[in-house]
Amino acid sequence: MSFSQLGLSPELLRALEDAGYQTPSPIQSKAIPACLEGRDVLAAAQTGTGKTAGFTLPILERLSREPQGHKRPVRALILTPTRELAAQIGESVEKYGVHLKPRLKSDVVYGGVKVNPQIARLRDGVDILVACPGRLLDLVNQKAVRLDQVETLVLDEADRMLDMGFIHDIKKILRLVPKQRQNLLFSATFSKEIRELANTLLDNPVSIEVAPRNTAAESVDQSIYMVEKPQRMALLTHLITHHQWSQALVFTATKHMANRVTQHLQKAGITAAAIHGNKSQNARTAALSGFKSGEVQVMVATDVAARGIDISELPNVVNFELPKTPADYVHRIGRTGRAGASGQAVSLVMPDERGQLKQIEKLIGRAIPVATAEGFDFTRAVPETPDEREQRPGGGQRRQGSGQARNNNGGGARNGGGAGRGGAGNRTRSGGGSTSGDEQARPARRRRRSSPRSSGNSGSGNR
Ligand code: ADP
Ligand code: MG
Repeated sequence: MSFSQLGLSPELLRALEDAGYQTPSPIQSKAIPACLEGRDVLAAAQTGTGKTAGFTLPILERLSREPQGHKRPVRALILTPTRELAAQIGESVEKYGVHLKPRLKSDVVYGGVKVNPQIARLRDGVDILVACPGRLLDLVNQKAVRLDQVETLVLDEADRMLDMGFIHDIKKILRLVPKQRQNLLFSATFSKEIRELANTLLDNPVSIEVAPRNTAAESVDQSIYMVEKPQRMALLTHLITHHQWSQALVFTATKHMANRVTQHLQKAGITAAAIHGNKSQNARTAALSGFKSGEVQVMVATDVAARGIDISELPNVVNFELPKTPADYVHRIGRTGRAGASGQAVSLVMPDERGQLKQIEKLIGRAIPVATAEGFDFTRAVPETPDEREQRPGGGQRRQGSGQARNNNGGGARNGGGAGRGGAGNRTRSGGGSTSGDEQARPARRRRRSSPRSSGNSGSGNR
């Protein structure tokens, strides 16, 4: 199968050649013809399988075939949960559409940056709009954009949008677009919620499921290190330096912890940057481009901020803290070993995370081997917060924890996961509460309460 068999114009084929794409990915060879026919599509495929081109190419193709009025109403609307993802899709639209004549106009809008420049840009009209839901609604309310000419609506990372509590915003947007339209729903997973959304949204869709849910879990080399809280900062630094990791993406559960880990790494002389919803858009963009260029060795991220970000050939992913849901584990480790490259995913597991570990192992269908931290001195403790010292008198001292046991194991051989997992009870984390993640969902809730709606990103919540 080649791209030329999919029904794309020579201008688009040329752009794909420029990009170095030789053959369509499985999701692309199924989704592109269906989208071109005007069908609704429901597609589930792992991250890194080329979903973006799967919907942007047919959109470009269809829109470039139709005559463009001079007013340029939005004809294709792509909704996506995070700013980084929106920016990335916007870049793809530009890249694939570069040889089209006349060019289609595209734009990207998201919160956390000034709204006025976006309003000004939208005034000139735009064919393809990539948007995060909250900011889009702001712009509609300010009459900066109308959605009544939308022909194709895309929900990208739909599962994530649901996780982040965007369903109400999405429903509002659905009332603003014409009833007659093409709907494309892309997701990493086919959860029950996604199927429900698909049932209400899609009309006789072509359903595409490419990779089984856990491909990433099979292709990525995974291991865990059992560790006690006071040692985990030091263990992270040790792993990075001992293994001479050229680059690593480190996940934390909270923004607060992302900052702490970043500061710790920086103190240890490692170039590190944090990326999460409390950072300004500029800081996030700078961190991401520094990481992509290789200047930044370690990027520390929360799940939502990192979701869908495409970093080619990322060799190492570290779960500094295990994710809240097992599905997120698969998403996280899917950041490495993309497009056939080999990748490594390491998780630091504290005693109170054993329950989460069990759930993850249940989902991926096997036990993750326990690794030995060669050369790591488990007496090296770094108190993470002042109150921790209070909570754990002598917390910095050598403990007969599971990490210690592993350390004695020596020789670098993995011990297959037997001994270390029993023992200490399954304390679950406290204060879990809401699962509606990171940046965009919170300001949206705040906005609803306060009037007039403000459009900043002043959130300082911990998650
Ligand atoms: P997903 O949305 O499924 O996570 P992306 O659309 O972000 O995946 O694509 C992942 C990476 O693969 C991107 O760097 C993209 O440029 C690249 N890519 C997409 N399609 C192809 C292809 N047909 N051949 C080679 N590379 C591709
Ligand atoms: Mg994607």
